[in-house]
Amino acid sequence: MEKTMPNGGKFELMALPYAPEALEPVISAQTLSFHHGKHLAAYVNNLTAALPGSGLEGLPLEEVVLKAQGGMLNNAGQILNHNLYFSQFMAPKADNAPAGSLAEAIDRDFGSFEAFKEAFARAGATLFGSGWAWLSADGDGRLTITQEPNAANPIQRGLCPLMTMDVWEHAYYLDYQNRRPDHLAALWQIINWDVMAARYDRK
Ligand code: MN
Repeated sequence: MEKTMPNGGKFELMALPYAPEALEPVISAQTLSFHHGKHLAAYVNNLTAALPGSGLEGLPLEEVVLKAQGGMLNNAGQILNHNLYFSQFMAPKADNAPAGSLAEAIDRDFGSFEAFKEAFARAGATLFGSGWAWLSADGDGRLTITQEPNAANPIQRGLCPLMTMDVWEHAYYLDYQNRRPDHLAALWQIINWDVMAARYDRK
């Protein structure tokens, strides 16, 4: 799994790889701007403030997530989660179906792509409170869906995360209010399956 290294001892706010309006109408420019420019930026600022003297300076972000506790773990976990969510999971005009070995693994482990989507949407919709639904692979390439509360990431279970949906209210409330399942259903339109398949092949 790739590592996110600090730059000059600190982690920086990732640049969005698309314009704020590029994911409309699934995610509005307003939601994307607040989500990236306010929520993620706050996690980055909080971790930057907490790192000095923690003993975790200079470690890759993934190592910080595995070793930190309390507020530092929450902020590091949220940075890792959002970096994946913004830069790898979603893309404008994305392909809408997996291919290659990932498609074969989805059929093998969930029965069909449609059955996988149903199971994943259920995991996202039924996660109580704030958190993330994840698709991950284990060391043998077996796929699994997990519900992770708050800032948790599947690497804490020894899994390789492939894709995720953010079910914190800040991810959808401006656009969908309380209708979390409607937001999750719309997200399938902008999933970047090409990147997901590549992540699966090099897990
Ligand atoms: Mn979020």
